[in-house]
Amino acid sequence: MLRRNNGKTAKAMGPEGFFRGPVRTCTICGCKASKELLCRFVWQGQRPVMDVRKRMMGRGAYCCDRERCVDGFLAREKKWKIAFRL
Ligand SMILES: [Zn+2]
Repeated sequence: MLRRNNGKTAKAMGPEGFFRGPVRTCTICGCKASKELLCRFVWQGQRPVMDVRKRMMGRGAYCCDRERCVDGFLAREKKWKIAFRL
């Protein structure tokens, strides 16, 4: 099975606005998308908290809104250290 998801093929996902504005990478699956389309997490002392309005202070980490990425992000402490530079 050939799987390509290295950002270069992501443009095929749709001509309209997938790359509008700042682009961020999903911490879990590595796909790239406009910041607005990704979930943002902010480090809150001991654990990441989802920043629903994307207005919280602090270093943000992004992951796409796929359930397995969000769940995966919340379950993987090793990812937090990289994403939040702990
Ligand atoms: Zn993802």
